[in-house]
Amino acid sequence: MSSQPTASEWTPDSWRTKPIKQGPEYPDQKALSKSLSELKRLPPIVHPREILKLKEHLRDVARGDAFLLQGGDCAELFDYCEQGAIESKIKLLLQMSLVLIWGADKRVVRIGRMAGQYAKPRSSPMEVLDGKMVPSFRGDILNGFHADERELDPGRLVKAYHYSAATLNYIRASLSSGIADLHRPLDWGLGHVRDPALKAKYSEAVTFLTDMLRFMHTIGADKTEKLDTVDLFTSHEGLLLEYEQCLTRLLDNPAHSPASSTTTNPKEYYNTSAHFLWIGDRTRQIDHAHVEFFRGIANPIGIKVGPTTPCADLLALLRTLNPSREEGKITLITRYGAAKVAALLPGHIRAVEDSEYARTVVWQCDPMHGNTQSVGAGGIKTRAFSDIFSELQQTLRIHKEQGSYLGGVHLELTGDAVTECLGGSEGLDEDDLSTNYTSFCDPRLNEKQALELAFLIADHYRC
Ligand code: PEP
Ligand code: MN
Repeated sequence: MSSQPTASEWTPDSWRTKPIKQGPEYPDQKALSKSLSELKRLPPIVHPREILKLKEHLRDVARGDAFLLQGGDCAELFDYCEQGAIESKIKLLLQMSLVLIWGADKRVVRIGRMAGQYAKPRSSPMEVLDGKMVPSFRGDILNGFHADERELDPGRLVKAYHYSAATLNYIRASLSSGIADLHRPLDWGLGHVRDPALKAKYSEAVTFLTDMLRFMHTIGADKTEKLDTVDLFTSHEGLLLEYEQCLTRLLDNPAHSPASSTTTNPKEYYNTSAHFLWIGDRTRQIDHAHVEFFRGIANPIGIKVGPTTPCADLLALLRTLNPSREEGKITLITRYGAAKVAALLPGHIRAVEDSEYARTVVWQCDPMHGNTQSVGAGGIKTRAFSDIFSELQQTLRIHKEQGSYLGGVHLELTGDAVTECLGGSEGLDEDDLSTNYTSFCDPRLNEKQALELAFLIADHYRC
């Protein structure tokens, strides 16, 4: 069933008639038109069939039959489009999902914040860089990080398309060439875990998983097509509507086979820039441009929900974005912070689960964005692992108490050994942050911290 409004009510550019937050003002309109025409001509990055496949998986998550793991950088840079960075992120997501499958005893649906996460909402239009006030860095799709690249450059729209396509190409190539091959030994590296009780817990999981993989290899069960490759879908915040509009195409719904139908295929508008897109915390005003754009696309979509979301807005958003109440169409990505989640989440759960939208949404916890803090004299942006885990743990408990299902997690992470978040089993402290702090935006969990979080979630389900 399609959730789309009819074409007369909605068009890919009807968002332009609405007020917009975080909208770019390009100084060079001629160059902008040139880039937009080029984008409209280029082929889709993802296919409607893949988008529908993800929708089916998310329906299973909404029903409580699968778990959603979504993760990646806060902001991708064009420079991250490089073999090692892509491989390490894929491997980390796969490794985390193995732990989650073992823990939750459910299939895991994987979505990367990858291959297009290039636009960032900013709280202020200007910022200080090297002692000078300059326009804020808004992500590689809009401007560059260096002080002399801060003017908005429409040429970056087309570059973002090519970097997204190259990243996704390598994700697909790696997955189809055996990066997910389960009999290959994985490096679980638990050497950094100092707490003996935690180490014993994690070692138990690793022993179980490696034994199971060896057994499957021995009996040949890992040779089936299903285990050799896995799905990894892509996602980003649908912030820059000029870009999103150009990649939104009226295409056949491939679920309807022409051979079995006497009528023509139903067409739907697919945003082919990614499989899954979300509306950020700063752009979810019901009568504004982003909600208008999102209500017309057939993709599964996320909505960030935080301390400033009134319950009434939540229902208005669901009614606007999913009028036909498709199961799994909407993922509510909750992000309150460890200190606020207990006061706010129960009300949001009741607003949805006591309405006509009961059991249609995927509830996903983003324990990152409500837990950002600044430390030290330089005001370095960081997050404490203990706050991240606390919000997640409270969210799991609250859903259990409310009779709803926490279907997934949304994390900012990287496969590299960065030092951006405090704590975890390595015990990173404020002095360690400068060792390898490379994020240009929000602080990410490193490989060890991300894997540890997966172990802790698994532990919750197994206790
Ligand atoms: C993000 O996901 O990077 C982000 C900016 O989140 P939010 O919109 O929830 O603040
Ligand atoms: Mn972020």
